[in-house]
Amino acid sequence: MTNDIASLIPVAISWIGALSDLIARTGLPLNDAQITIARSVGVVHPEKIRLLGVDAIPVPDDAKLRQAAHSSGLLSPNMAGLTLGYGIYIRRGQATTRLLSHEFRHVYQYEQAGSIESFISIYLQQILTVGYQLAPLEIDAREHEIQGLTARY
Ligand SMILES: [Zn+2]
Repeated sequence: MTNDIASLIPVAISWIGALSDLIARTGLPLNDAQITIARSVGVVHPEKIRLLGVDAIPVPDDAKLRQAAHSSGLLSPNMAGLTLGYGIYIRRGQATTRLLSHEFRHVYQYEQAGSIESFISIYLQQILTVGYQLAPLEIDAREHEIQGLTARY
């Protein structure tokens, strides 16, 4: 791990922890159909998930983290969702089955990692070395997307 990545991890953990707490306080729990989608992509505790609709996904205050997120392709102006532990930002009007199943798969990945800290260490390492598109955790999330028309619920 390069020093750059190592120094960004605590900054990212603190940013994500704060937003995750905010979504836990202000977001909405899933409805039954959304719980079914979350379970179908492996989420163990879908009842803990909260969704928060926003006009724009927040970007990090920290300039280095913001720049790293942009240059890796993670944060872009047209991004529709961002998962932070059990908290999920969804841009208003974008809550499709496909997007929700993708973000729920990230929740599953957080659960498997065991904590926000361990997920972020792995995830940042991936996107800052191979980029967002090729990061194995993103490939896994894309492979678990459920298309609306073929959803089994
Ligand atoms: Zn993703």
